[in-house]
Amino acid sequence: MKHRLLYNQRSRPLVVSTDPDPFIYMNFMKSHCCYDAMPTSSKLVIFDTTLQVKKAFFALVANGVRAAPLWDAKLKCFVGMLTITDFINILHRYYKSPLVQIYELEEHKIETWREIYLQYSINRLISITPDCSLFDAIYSLLKNKIHRLPVIDPASGNVLHILTHKPFLPFGSTIPKPRFLQKRINEVGIGTFKQIATVQESASVFDALTVFVERRVSALPVVNEKGKVVALYSRFDVINLAAQKNYNNLNMTMKEAVSSRACCMEGVLKCYPYETLETIIDRIAKAEVHRLVLVDGDDVVRGIVSLSDLLQALVLTPAGIDALYS
Ligand code: ADP
Ligand code: ADP
Ligand code: AMP
Repeated sequence: MKHRLLYNQRSRPLVVSTDPDPFIYMNFMKSHCCYDAMPTSSKLVIFDTTLQVKKAFFALVANGVRAAPLWDAKLKCFVGMLTITDFINILHRYYKSPLVQIYELEEHKIETWREIYLQYSINRLISITPDCSLFDAIYSLLKNKIHRLPVIDPASGNVLHILTHKPFLPFGSTIPKPRFLQKRINEVGIGTFKQIATVQESASVFDALTVFVERRVSALPVVNEKGKVVALYSRFDVINLAAQKNYNNLNMTMKEAVSSRACCMEGVLKCYPYETLETIIDRIAKAEVHRLVLVDGDDVVRGIVSLSDLLQALVLTPAGIDALYS
């Protein structure tokens, strides 16, 4: 492959191919920094690690945010994140039955939970600085298998913003669309097509939490007895249990849980193997969701095309990096 050396706005050397197609998104992400992806204002909620976990999850709901950085007042620094995955892990670990209150959820402080949980999980805050490239941010999100990356000002130590996968689409509408976007998804093979984690609509919410914990996936297609996809239950939807204060009844069926969601998308956002990459990217970007469910003509689940898969394929693979599947 032929290259020519260019300099981006920040005077860093940047490799651009003479054939722009394979490298166009990689180069775009390398030549823009996290600061460029930050909105001029956004809501940020921070929790002290001495706050009770239950109050923290209620505060996420009340403020309409999905995650919060954790401040340790003794260490005087941010030590981690609290996300809906943590809520799922607590419910899954301590739930006994609808008749028994989850004592640990009611009584534990965030720091108590972290002492137990961090033995098995990430035990430091993964963050980035505003002048790091978007490429570095994508690498960090995918490599660490996280969905929340705080941008921290190195001078003040303040969290400025929390980056997720979503602002990276549609990859900067100013750059020309490369030809390979016209390829069909079954030609390019971007996504997961084997061992898709699903949940039956007759299964319980606890069963769904078990799959979230064991498979570490961000969403589950909900299928009926014929194997057709009827809904999508994402980690985000689990916070409805806190919003509706019904986390004490995890025996309810997925059918009930899905229909009782406060506000959710109508139907399932799907894609078909014959659809082009461009169609799929546009659909994900317009709906502002994290993934599409790939189905066949009978609506049977055949795969998942997630933002993580797209960012891996279009940004990291051209750089010779496999962060997602390694
Ligand atoms: P969700 O999809 O529920 O928002 P994530 O996939 O981001 O959650 O989080 C998975 C786990 O990693 C959670 O236990 C969360 O607390 C932790 N985590 C998420 N982001 C970070 C981060 N930037 N630094 C350290 N830990 C993190
Ligand atoms: P996040 O913003 O935390 O990444 P998600 O995109 O996973 O959240 O989910 C946000 C909402 O969109 C949830 O209610 C989820 O059920 C819904 N949703 C996400 N993906 C799909 C999909 N492919 N089809 C239907 N609903 C979806
Ligand atoms: P995500 O957690 O959605 O950012 O995706 C991380 C990886 O998990 C991607 O390769 C997805 O295709 C894959 N993935 C997401 N959801 C599922 C699922 N329900 N079953 C199997 N793989 C999944």
